[in-house]
Formats: sequence, structure tokens, C-alpha cells
Amino acid sequence: MSDKTTNDKVCWICASRSLELMRPSSIRRPLSDVNFAITDPNYGITSAIYRCQGCGFLQCAQLNDTLQYYSTLKDEEYDNSAQHRLHQADKLLQTVTRYKKSGSLLDVGAGTGYLLQQAQLLGFETVGVEPSSWLCEKAVKKGLNVLCGVLPNPVLSPPYDVVTLIDVIEHVTNPVDVLSSVTGVMAGDAIGVLVTPDVESLAARLTGRRWWHYRVAHVGYFTRKTISLALDRAGLRPIAFSRPAWYLSAAYLMSRLNVYLPSYLKLNPPTVLNRLTVGFNLFDSMLVVFQKKR
Ligand SMILES: [Zn+2]
Repeated sequence: MSDKTTNDKVCWICASRSLELMRPSSIRRPLSDVNFAITDPNYGITSAIYRCQGCGFLQCAQLNDTLQYYSTLKDEEYDNSAQHRLHQADKLLQTVTRYKKSGSLLDVGAGTGYLLQQAQLLGFETVGVEPSSWLCEKAVKKGLNVLCGVLPNPVLSPPYDVVTLIDVIEHVTNPVDVLSSVTGVMAGDAIGVLVTPDVESLAARLTGRRWWHYRVAHVGYFTRKTISLALDRAGLRPIAFSRPAWYLSAAYLMSRLNVYLPSYLKLNPPTVLNRLTVGFNLFDSMLVVFQKKR
């Protein structure tokens, strides 16, 4: 990994140059798009994480271009859990409709479009952007309006009434730029909803280095304070925080629990569990509703 980048050792949120190494890299092999799969089971493996002395933000300061991995990303396992992801989308949209009952909705990092599918059912006019052309094609095959790429995107026609970034902001090395692009496409009275892991949560502190959100694809680790600061820098302000639950198949959850178990305790999930949706909440993610600053 290169140390020569201009991005190196500059806080992605407050631009301070005073960063201290918090945990060295645990990556033993060259990175490839496989490490960036949504369903990557290698918890605890990350690039070197630095803490900003200015604002406290935790970032993988040596990575400066993660986008290259997403454009070629394929994740066969992702669509196996369609039913559960649709359920998750419905739950997120319950938060959206508390603020906006209809209008235009842009989903940034749309994947194969679960959130858009469910938002359409509620009557929203939907569009998504997704950097992985493989995921993007799958969304388009479902008849969804998903553009392959990232923000800013010249094909979009802003402003939008709702903008969502679900588990996106922890994947980018320029969070303030991404959020500024979001500000740029929001209508004056629009709301934004983002979800990201909370590195200060109890689960994160209890599981330490093996916290399931410590993974190669997560390059920025937010707290309530640092996500608020990033929003502020982008001309946005948080108006509500909550703790979203995750909805997964029981089989998927068991296979992931195996990561934490010694080999003699490994679980072998029966296939019937694939059809069972489990909601669980470790209270270790944040859902943030935000608006433009007035
Ligand atoms: Zn900082």
C-alpha cells in the first residue's frame, strides 16, 4: 500500500494533519474487490486506522481510492438474502415517511435496488446511483432506475425530496465531499437519511478488535460527534438519531456468529433457516436524519 498519497495523514473531516496510529494494518494479502464484498465475513481485518487528534475521527488514512474496488465488485451472496433486505428497506422507509410521505427519492449506493423497490411501492419517484456495474445491472434488470456511478452525477435531475445513504459513508475516503454532493441535490426542505456503524457503541467497545464492522471495506469509523461534524462541514445538520435493527436470515446470522466461535462450537445452519428472517439490534449502528442548514 502506498504512503505517498496527498490524502495520507490528513483528517477526512476536519483536515487536521495531526493523526496518530491507533491500530496497525491487519491485512496480510494485497487488496482486491473481494475484500469489498457487502457480505465479506473477515471481521476484524482492516487497513491501518488513525485517530485524528483534532476531531477524534478514525480513518484508514493510507487508503485513498477505494472506488476502484467497487466498480468491479461482484457479490453473489448478497442477493441470496433478498427477502430480509426488503424487510430492512421497509423499516428504513418507515423513518423516511415520518418526514416525507411522497416525492422524489435518491438512494446513493443503491446496490441491487431493494430500498428503491420498496420506496416505489409507497409512491416515491425513485432513482439510485451505484458504483458496482454488476450490482447496477441487476437493479436495471429489475426495471429500476439505477445509474452506474457515484455523486456528483450529471445524469441526475435534482433536486430530490429524500436522499438516502445506507451503509455508504463508512466506505468512502472523502465523506465530506460525498455529503456536500448530497447537499447539492437536496431540495430546500428535503430530508436525508444515513446509516453507519457507531464505533463508540457498547457492542464495538465490548468486541474490541473483532467488532463485526471492523472490515477492509470500512475505511471511516464514525461516532455521533464525528458524523455530526462531517454533516456540518457539508452544509447539513442532524435532526434525529436512532439505532436501526438489522434483518438477516437466521442461517446467515448463524454463519456469521461462527466467526466468533472456536472450531468445536461452529454451527452448521440447516437450509430451512434461510427462509427465517431474524431482526436483531446490537445498537451499534446509527441512523441519522438530516436537513440542509438554514
Ligand atoms: Zn479530524
